[in-house]
Amino acid sequence: MSSVNMSTPKIWVLGDGQLGAMMRHAGMPLALDVRPVDIMSPTDEKLPLAADDIITAEREQWPESSLSRQLSEHPNFINGPVFGRLADRFTQKSLLDELAVATAPWALVDTDITEATLHSRFGERVLLKRRTGGYDGKGQHWLKQTENTAIPADWRHEAIAEQAINFDEEVSLVGCRSADGQCHFYPLALNLHQDGILIASISPLNRLEHLQSQAQEMLAKIMTALEYVGVMAMECFRVGDHLLVNELAPRVHNSGHWTQAGCHISQFELHLRALAHLPIPELKPALPIAMVNLIGVERDDHWLSLPGAELYWYNKEVRPGRKVGHLNLDASDKQQILSALSSLQGWMPAQYQAPLSWMADELK
Ligand code: AMP
Repeated sequence: MSSVNMSTPKIWVLGDGQLGAMMRHAGMPLALDVRPVDIMSPTDEKLPLAADDIITAEREQWPESSLSRQLSEHPNFINGPVFGRLADRFTQKSLLDELAVATAPWALVDTDITEATLHSRFGERVLLKRRTGGYDGKGQHWLKQTENTAIPADWRHEAIAEQAINFDEEVSLVGCRSADGQCHFYPLALNLHQDGILIASISPLNRLEHLQSQAQEMLAKIMTALEYVGVMAMECFRVGDHLLVNELAPRVHNSGHWTQAGCHISQFELHLRALAHLPIPELKPALPIAMVNLIGVERDDHWLSLPGAELYWYNKEVRPGRKVGHLNLDASDKQQILSALSSLQGWMPAQYQAPLSWMADELK
């Protein structure tokens, strides 16, 4: 018997970090041949790309290499032009303004703009963000009027300035658009960041339900305008009953990892289904999930003893501030989740105490 797989298109992923690995894992039950590519490996070899293969990416920016060029220049590189447009905060913010999607007020830090102008437009605290390359809170610089902070000379043309938003909390929406234009969404996730890095997400939460349609309209508008195919994440600030987009990611996203345990179709499978033109039925999350990111901590197999816990360990070298895994915890049973969070507090270092208490408070 010949293998069916031989003739089905492969899905190549530009990048081979944890997102690519989880995509490959999600493709297995559907016999989708997903191949993450380490674009940094120096090689003269060419990838055996077929004309009908599909190319996606697990990151919005990548260094030039013969492998990254081969993938990004393939005619089936899905959403090709979108990556550059969203990877640059200037073009991303310009798109949001064009579409009249609410976002933190901003300006380009050009040659002439002064600190005084920025403070008069945006107030006493202004956040400068590098146009590209900033992630997990990196590439940020606060201008404080009281301290006369200056715009770093080499940030001109390389940064945008944003009004400091006094937000109530941060939420995100993970959605997907299929090639026929249908949009699909998971429930909003409530996110907690520590030192600019996502540390915990909870979804779904009843108290966020009234914001769901507002968020869906925003992300549908964006994905439709970009003729996007696949999963996109929209991170927002909640200010009262209003959402402001902070950031868009044209890919599967950390704040959607809860779907691996919480929904019959995870965000990884959803992205693959859209790319491979497979049917996408209504998304019906079955379980509320509390997701804890494992950041700069050694693996501890105690975690596996928690009822309702699923561990994803990325097998990366542990370094401070580096995401090395995540835990998805079933939050459907209140006693069970509160006891799991309390056990984790006993096993995890100081920087986890406040986030785990925050989760317990949300889930009580
Ligand atoms: P980002 O790299 O844009 O995702 O920002 C990382 C974190 O910095 C966000 O999750 C917020 O907690 C904070 N942040 C970003 N932009 C602003 C802003 N305009 N006002 C206040 N806090 C912000």
